[in-house]
Amino acid sequence: MMAAGLAISETTANWAYIAASVLFILGLKMLGKQHTARKGNFVSAVGMLVAVVAVLAQGGYDWTWIVVGLLLGTLIGTFAALAVRMTAMPQMVGLFNGFGGLASLLVGWWEYQKSPALPLFTAVAVGLAILIGGITFTGSMIAWAKLDERMPTRPPLFRGQQIVNALLVIATVAALVIFCRDPQSQAPALYILIVLSLVLGVMAVIPIGGADMPVVISLLNSYSGLAASAAGFVIMNNVLIVAGCLVGASGIILTNIMCKAMNRSLASVLFGGFGAATAAGATKIFKGEAKALTPEDAYYILEAANSVAFVPGYGMAVAQAQHAVRELADILEANGCDVRYGIHPVAGRMPGHMNVLLAEADVPYEQLLDMDAINPLMPMVDVAIVIGANDVVNPAAREIKESPIYGMPIINVDQARTVFVLKRSMASGFSGVDNPLFFHENTRMIFGDAKTTLQAIVASFKTAS
Ligand code: NDP
Repeated sequence: MMAAGLAISETTANWAYIAASVLFILGLKMLGKQHTARKGNFVSAVGMLVAVVAVLAQGGYDWTWIVVGLLLGTLIGTFAALAVRMTAMPQMVGLFNGFGGLASLLVGWWEYQKSPALPLFTAVAVGLAILIGGITFTGSMIAWAKLDERMPTRPPLFRGQQIVNALLVIATVAALVIFCRDPQSQAPALYILIVLSLVLGVMAVIPIGGADMPVVISLLNSYSGLAASAAGFVIMNNVLIVAGCLVGASGIILTNIMCKAMNRSLASVLFGGFGAATAAGATKIFKGEAKALTPEDAYYILEAANSVAFVPGYGMAVAQAQHAVRELADILEANGCDVRYGIHPVAGRMPGHMNVLLAEADVPYEQLLDMDAINPLMPMVDVAIVIGANDVVNPAAREIKESPIYGMPIINVDQARTVFVLKRSMASGFSGVDNPLFFHENTRMIFGDAKTTLQAIVASFKTAS
């Protein structure tokens, strides 16, 4: 079933691509601010729709496969958006990055199958689409398995790993060069390149773990953009080139921001093997007893507090406690208390995770302070309420040199007059590092699901009034 003929000219399609690119850029800009982020997502999605319609309107396709692809993609996308839990969103982003990489690899491979006598430029584009696409695909699958706890997040390191990786890189570059010099007779080099790029993706991400994972996710996102851009050069599609570059560039900017936020260099993230060698820093080295408090007793302290800082983490997402937080904040404010929220850049499991949840509960933006803004205020805070956060408030990052998270900036909740930690047990956080905060003199542990605990505190306020 072929299309009847050319519906729109190449010039018209290029105008539509420019319009789509402008919408992508505007959308990205809007995503930078919380109050315009939703609109930004929508504007970018409209840009994508314009691009897809312009590609299809040029005609000349086998519509059977296009329709099958559209239906499958729509079904999977709709199912994923509706069914995936908010806490599993990073895994989904990881999977989608990986599939983007795989798609670019397939585009490169297919172009070669169509006509192996490629000019040098196209051969380089095919090679890069396959190389970056392959690394992105398997790297993202490993990141997904780690985030979904199907694989240990602690990195397995072995002696000579970096040498093996260096040899792999050299072999991959050699295969790429051999292929590009004579694509027509070097099909074996292409197949070796495919295998090596897939192995490289696994080897590159396997040694990265623990608190470094946010950086990896954002780096793989950037790679998926670069792979798409290379695929755009393969099939000479302008909008794919532009969209790929935008994803690649924004991903690398975000990677840089994440590295700075965690006080890590990209090199130490990629080659450092987070937490593998320093087990001593992760094992229990804290003495004393953690002091537990009931929600009812917490009420008495909060009732007298003049300033409260909420510091949310991954556990708030698990408990879906954002609405309960907002309800308690409203009651505290009505009681004359000053309320703020301290947002750590890597709290939760994806960049902006906490902001999204708190925005859903209509928490006023001006009450959300980032780490650098909340920390100087901490000594003046009467009660810091840690809601399912752990790594991002772990003073070991500041004080214990042997700790795998040493040097990572944290929200200094321990400097508040009193700290409530709402979590279910004494378990460690994502990085597997124990937290001395739980044993501090001014810390009170309120055990239980964060939402249930907050609702119990709210109930105490309501009963008292
Ligand atoms: P952590 O993962 O360090 O800690 C979360 C805590 O929440 C756990 O200790 C858990 O303790 C508690 N918790 C879980 N469920 C509940 C519940 N229902 N009620 C109450 N508490 C609960 O989270 P943080 O946000 O502090 O730190 C984020 C970590 O994730 C960092 O290490 C970061 O590097 C990493 N990361 C961040 C990404 C990002 O982009 N933001 C991406 C990937 C990883 P308990 O089981 O005892 O309840």
